Amino acid sequence: MKAWVIGNWKQNPAASQDVDTLLESLLTAIDDGAKASTELSNSHCNLMVAPSCIHLAAVSTRLKGTPILCAAQNISAHSASTGAYTGDCSAQQVADTGAMWTLLGHSERRQYHQESNECLLQKMTHALAQELGVVLCIGETQTQYDANQTLEVIDGQLSVIKDLLVQQPDIAASLSDRLIIAYEPVWAIGTGKVPTVTEVSKTHQHIKQTVAGFADSLNEMTVLYGGSVNADNADSFAADSMINGALVGGASLKAESFLAIANAFS
Ligand code: PEP
Repeated sequence: MKAWVIGNWKQNPAASQDVDTLLESLLTAIDDGAKASTELSNSHCNLMVAPSCIHLAAVSTRLKGTPILCAAQNISAHSASTGAYTGDCSAQQVADTGAMWTLLGHSERRQYHQESNECLLQKMTHALAQELGVVLCIGETQTQYDANQTLEVIDGQLSVIKDLLVQQPDIAASLSDRLIIAYEPVWAIGTGKVPTVTEVSKTHQHIKQTVAGFADSLNEMTVLYGGSVNADNADSFAADSMINGALVGGASLKAESFLAIANAFS
């Protein structure tokens, strides 16, 4: 299975000039890598970045024809492509920028925007209707981890996929190409704390089994780990066959560390 390394830029960088610098550093390094036939010619690893919505169109345009894909960080829960929804961007508007994926259900959206399974079901439906792939983020809080509730929490968050398939059974066959799950323990995001590789591996195994139980066609689900992945610890996650890549926040804002992580998974 080809690994994925995805950079979640969150509300960064502040200036569009810094976006350009980051993009050009990434593209130059990949170009140089391809010329030198190093691992990072993108043949073994899918690369994607998710800029903030204000930079989405520019980034998407710049990345057209390059080995890096572009994703939105979120889409509107409203079904209309246009309308009186101040501050929202519809799935159609995102698709129109050329972006082919969207993150959904990141813990910061769940925490600061009260995104529920109902809301995420709507967003997934709209994304897939516009042929956007979905990176569904799930994970437990520190309190839930301490109370040994990780699998229970994850099962609740994964049930949105089951609900989607109840509503649209016909999409089951194509869903594995358009859905990626990112397991991100909330307590590991931006904290420098990470679960052990064994813990992540066991949780990923559970996620894969659970999703395969929703439909036979979902028996090879791509499951990424996210939470304080960096250039130093990426190798250990990449060595485990249950971990199919990484969703990277802080370390994706520097081309060097993002590409070092990509190298680890290549
Ligand atoms: C994230 O926000 O998805 C994330 C994994 O952040 P970080 O890598 O900074 O922990």
